[in-house]
Amino acid sequence: MTGSLVIVGTGPGKPELMTPAAGSALARATDLVGYAAYLDRVPARHGQRRHASDNRVELERARHALMLAASGRDVAVVSGGDPGVFAMAAAIFEAVEAGDQAWRSLDIRVEPGVTAMLAAAAEVGAPLGGDFCAISLSDNLKSWATIERRLKAAAEADFVIALYNPASRARPHQLGQAFALLRTLKAATTPVLFVRAAGTSEAKVIASDLAEANASVADMRTLVIVGASTTRCVGRWIYTPRSEREAAS
Ligand code: SAH
Repeated sequence: MTGSLVIVGTGPGKPELMTPAAGSALARATDLVGYAAYLDRVPARHGQRRHASDNRVELERARHALMLAASGRDVAVVSGGDPGVFAMAAAIFEAVEAGDQAWRSLDIRVEPGVTAMLAAAAEVGAPLGGDFCAISLSDNLKSWATIERRLKAAAEADFVIALYNPASRARPHQLGQAFALLRTLKAATTPVLFVRAAGTSEAKVIASDLAEANASVADMRTLVIVGASTTRCVGRWIYTPRSEREAAS
């Protein structure tokens, strides 16, 4: 009996922002595995089993999904945004690497989704129009020293920086520390955007600059974008020109 496992990105929230391919992968599954808040976004289907779990136990959830697939079930692991961006897809492959040899021949697929960074950028214009990078501020899985090293390198290279996981109740101070570090390396007028619930009907944007940016407005549903030296406003939009030459003129 061979099952399958697909790791599905459901996009930032709005149903229209989920791809049709993700929708059909969810509809075909016999079992859905994921964090309860993400499972709640998936319409109920008769006969489909749901395995809701706590957000923190990614590897356990990954092993559970792999065991279900190995037992013949067609499993969809549900992830918000894109499953490959700070989410479940890497956890699944990590579990495959450390687990049962037989898991390596399972039918495993990844179904992409619109990640928060893209939904957030679209709310404000085109801040990711030039070169950019994404950094998660969560230090659950890596040290704060690593995060600081990457922030410094990104500032030095003048990337636009998308900050995922900027804050949570367990980690209220990190975004403030990140801003303090960036203030020593970048212009005070650098645009900083707080985009909450991007790509949902509750989307909210706070536009600020590095000097004024108030870390306490960010929560777990906020994506923070810190501009490059060329990022600027035009009317009510914010964008980063693609051309370096144009920016210098
Ligand atoms: N796989 C997800 C990211 C998971 S990390 C993706 O691709 O989007 C969780 C972080 O993503 C949150 O703390 C927040 O920073 C960001 N995030 C997720 N959904 C968001 C949304 N709708 N609006 C703004 N930020 C969001």
